[in-house]
Amino acid sequence: MRDFVHLHLHTEYSLLDGACRIGELITHIKSIGQRAVAITDHGNMFGVIDFYDECVKQGIKPIIGCEVYVAIGSRFEKELKGGRKYYHLILLCENMTGYKNLIKLVSLGYTEGFYGRPRIDLELIKKYHEGLICLSACMAGELSVKLSDGDYDGAVKTAELYRDTKSGLYRAKAYFSAAYKAFKANRHPACGYE
Ligand SMILES: [Zn+2]
Repeated sequence: MRDFVHLHLHTEYSLLDGACRIGELITHIKSIGQRAVAITDHGNMFGVIDFYDECVKQGIKPIIGCEVYVAIGSRFEKELKGGRKYYHLILLCENMTGYKNLIKLVSLGYTEGFYGRPRIDLELIKKYHEGLICLSACMAGELSVKLSDGDYDGAVKTAELYRDTKSGLYRAKAYFSAAYKAFKANRHPACGYE
């Protein structure tokens, strides 16, 4: 497991959500021989400085990120769409440009897009994607929601959309086929992912 790196991880700063104390987390990562770890708290970057300092102190490579909320449509529209307010999306910083862009995105989520949670939207992602890598996130990610709804074509379109912003990690069609089959075989009950 030495080469494994957690790229989706919620700390104690992931409000109403995370349980990992940063100091204990980094000590544990080090104790099992892993060399890097990401922070992807929900909708905020409040824990980033503590996380970075603790990683540097213990000789672990910090990967700064956030699990953002993405409005369905415009961030200025404060209404439910298909019973939802947002999807989840993981953003990871590749470099300092990405870090600055992530700060911008997360801040605008609060000042412009807040509706239940701080939300950004595709318009902002297109504008501030440089230096960022995106992952499909969890069962509340747009890709997973579409796959679990049986909307394979919609999921592929979502993946292509993010790929075209050049921040995507969505690559092979084989991934969608495998994920789609898994969703069909293992349909998950709706659990109200927040
Ligand atoms: Zn999530």
